[in-house]
Amino acid sequence: MTSGVRAALVRSTSPQRPDDLVAEVPEVTPHEVSEAARRSRDAQRAWWAAAAPVRATALGAAAAALRASADEAAALVVREVGKPAGEAAGEVARGVAILDYYAQAAYAPLGATLPPSVPGLLFTERRPHGVAGLVTPWNFPVAIPLWKAAPALAAGNAVLLKPAPDATATALWLGELLAAALPDDLVQVLPGGAETGRAVLDAAEVVSFTGSAAVGRQVAVAAAGRGVPVQAEMGGQNAAIVLSDADPEVAAAQIAAAAMGFAGQKCTATRRIVVVGGPRRVDELTEALVLAVAALPPGDPAQAGVQVGPVIGEAARRRVLDATTAVRGAGGHVLHGGTTPGGDGWFVTPTLVSGIDPGHPVAQEETFGPLAVVQAAADVTAAVRLAEGVRYGLVTSVHGRDLDQLLTAVRGVQTGLVKVNAPTTGVDFWAPFGGERDSSYGQREQGLAALDFYASTRTVTLSPHP
Ligand code: NAD
Repeated sequence: MTSGVRAALVRSTSPQRPDDLVAEVPEVTPHEVSEAARRSRDAQRAWWAAAAPVRATALGAAAAALRASADEAAALVVREVGKPAGEAAGEVARGVAILDYYAQAAYAPLGATLPPSVPGLLFTERRPHGVAGLVTPWNFPVAIPLWKAAPALAAGNAVLLKPAPDATATALWLGELLAAALPDDLVQVLPGGAETGRAVLDAAEVVSFTGSAAVGRQVAVAAAGRGVPVQAEMGGQNAAIVLSDADPEVAAAQIAAAAMGFAGQKCTATRRIVVVGGPRRVDELTEALVLAVAALPPGDPAQAGVQVGPVIGEAARRRVLDATTAVRGAGGHVLHGGTTPGGDGWFVTPTLVSGIDPGHPVAQEETFGPLAVVQAAADVTAAVRLAEGVRYGLVTSVHGRDLDQLLTAVRGVQTGLVKVNAPTTGVDFWAPFGGERDSSYGQREQGLAALDFYASTRTVTLSPHP
């Protein structure tokens, strides 16, 4: 930093108690990012030169450390991003499992042996890219950094992590935990905003981003321009299709939780509910949905049993309230919510709307809060068309019994994930994860496929000396 010039600060406050300052640290400057990248590159060479058991043992030690501090981690997640305590504990447990899984993946085969065309051997081997630049959102402040960093490390890379400002404290905490288990400078957490993010991406040999579609597109273009591999996981405007033979109460309860849990702040949250059937069926389902949503009042996320906490900040709450106003302005109905319950935090009542055109921005674009739109479709074909009529393609759920109808829906939708009689939310980290269209760019995340993303494959021909 130039003397006399003070670095900008990155701040994070608790959404349930906005006067609770959780973190305030200087933004890492682009110059500091390139210094960090240089140190990471040195650490990476030694890490890859070490034997596989060294990497497996170190990642296993990180898993053990997180398991031992799970309560502390979950409490910090609740405080910093307002995630309900049960979900925060689940996210930390998932983080432990991800570290355990990729610790073992350090032993995975590096390639294949193929029949040679000359005497000798023909084989492939995965080799790390070098420094992985990871840019992450605030909504899964433990799981998302880990589901990127753990496979990157298992494949032999170093990691520079630029967390979202709203999750700065959790990221720094996680960075310290990883640093204690891993060699010096192998993982560095670099807090800041867009400028720091751009510098991290510019310094990296492989780039993984999760966040909004607008930023993800810029990240993909910048990485492609530099010729480095990139994956970007972005938003969703996910539909739940309710077939005419689905039990209304069961489907409504599952969908309400998927739409409103953690105040709808998941890329996989249900945003649209497409009800198949005539007006009576639509009324029946709507009534069940209103009851199920009303059973999820916003509350203190630290309290047991609360499923809906605050949204992340003032602007996020404004987006939900503005969307509600826009629905009314377009002649639609606010079936539930659209109000603020009072108190200090950024709380907003889970909001269910209907009666808007499928092309209305509230139906088309992610509000990223506790808001879902009820839509009607005459049959399953029309439901698929409606579900697919957005620019995103992350996940669809289908609820019902008739196998033909279920299969028509499953085959008809083009989203990267399809769930039958299961909520749109919830991710199995050992299976490939990602979407289509504006939801994702590049290779899938998670599972063993992630090892391929964080490495390049070379082909070796080995012949005896003639
Ligand atoms: P965001 O796009 O605002 O920010 C994401 C990250 O990018 C942050 O770290 C931010 O500081 C950084 N950033 C911002 N501008 C940048 C730039 N120009 N260059 C480099 N980095 C930059 O997203 P958010 O508000 O933190 O997260 C919410 C979004 O994330 C939602 O759209 C949600 O759907 C999406 N999300 C997607 C997934 C998924 O796996 N598909 C998972 C969780 C969240």
